[in-house]
Amino acid sequence: MSYVDMSTSELETLKAALETEYASHCAKGLSLNMARGKPGCDQLALSLPMLDELTSSSDLIAEDGTDCRNYGVMDGIAEAKRLMGEVMEHDPANVCVFGNSSLNIMFDLVTAGYTHGYLGSTPWCKLPEVKWLCPVPGYDRHFGITESYGIEMIPISMNENGPDMDEIERLVAEDDSIKGIWCVPQYANPTGITYSDETVHRLAEMPCAASDFRIFWDNAYCVHHLYDDEREHVADIAAACEAAGNPNRYFKFASTSKVTLPGAGIAAVAASDENIAEIKARVGVQTVGYDKMNQLRHVRFLKDAAGVDALMKKHAAIIRPKFELVARMLEEGLGNEGIATWTNPVGGYFVSFDGLEGTAKRTVELAKKAGVTMTGAGATWPYKQDPRDTNIRIAPTLPPLSELQQAMEVFVCCVKLAAVEVLLA
Ligand code: PLP
Repeated sequence: MSYVDMSTSELETLKAALETEYASHCAKGLSLNMARGKPGCDQLALSLPMLDELTSSSDLIAEDGTDCRNYGVMDGIAEAKRLMGEVMEHDPANVCVFGNSSLNIMFDLVTAGYTHGYLGSTPWCKLPEVKWLCPVPGYDRHFGITESYGIEMIPISMNENGPDMDEIERLVAEDDSIKGIWCVPQYANPTGITYSDETVHRLAEMPCAASDFRIFWDNAYCVHHLYDDEREHVADIAAACEAAGNPNRYFKFASTSKVTLPGAGIAAVAASDENIAEIKARVGVQTVGYDKMNQLRHVRFLKDAAGVDALMKKHAAIIRPKFELVARMLEEGLGNEGIATWTNPVGGYFVSFDGLEGTAKRTVELAKKAGVTMTGAGATWPYKQDPRDTNIRIAPTLPPLSELQQAMEVFVCCVKLAAVEVLLA
């Protein structure tokens, strides 16, 4: 029976039962974590053979003769650019393979816009105000970057095709202080949505008041399919921007963080001729070059896009049961109560969950007290402020299945209890 149809006395009876159940969860002394989208230990083990690719007796010369032990080649060895070019569907000549983190490259490019300006445009630090479009729910670390520069973040609602394009087109056409948008276009963090072709083309084609408007196209989950027969694939923003006569409008990002070893992977940016030339000039001031040994290690282990795909299938085999467990437990626990909706993604790392208005913070708080750490409520919104306090990001990959089951039992109980509390208030 839907909770909203219950009488006060029925809700009170239910509340007492839920409080008893909640107390029994608390008594177990659990310590479980569904907060961050980290691979589990068994996933990390898949890439350990990569560490044996380079030993003291290995050939450490890249295919063009570069000695990977020494300084040089600031934008990545050719074979790493080719590998990331295949993954990112981009001409390797316009791919730079840098360090261990794509987020770091994104931060650096926002910094570049702020301190130097792109391709001769006014640095944002000299403007009275700078704004940014933030599809919500979204990735908290993206929002953290723009917040750190005092950039005003405008939430844009997401639908099943991606961000609300009518709203975006309206805003960017009239306001030249809007300088960019965060996009996770395939298996988005946290909704799992893949942008439709129409969304991609509208982003590429829309008239923008700001000539230095940039789409930060963070395709972090481009190879993270959960099912072989239900793969989604986002249209290429680069081709769409070129065709629209806006070749400099985008920066594409990807990394092997959740392919091999997070924090010890390789990360890349792909862009137009002009943007890449500017990026190389700028990064060349920052460093003599990144870790070519790690680039070589990755290429020898992964080889090419087919090699990446083969590894990703092994990841999927490990995490698919976790996503299915979450979907099943949400459906069984909350399918008929009328107090929650959630996504059933076919790729990526997250499930996006919405409870009744005004319950997300309370749900996360209850879970925490029962020993289950969730991503903080509000984290999926700019400034950590979810105006309706509904959204919670569920990250199922890190805990082993048995722990995930326990954590989800607690979570479902907390969602119900928070809903009853709000309905009785
Ligand atoms: N982008 C998105 C959308 C992510 O979800 C994550 C990690 O969760 C990252 C980037 C981090 O990538 P990296 O490890 O390459 O910095």
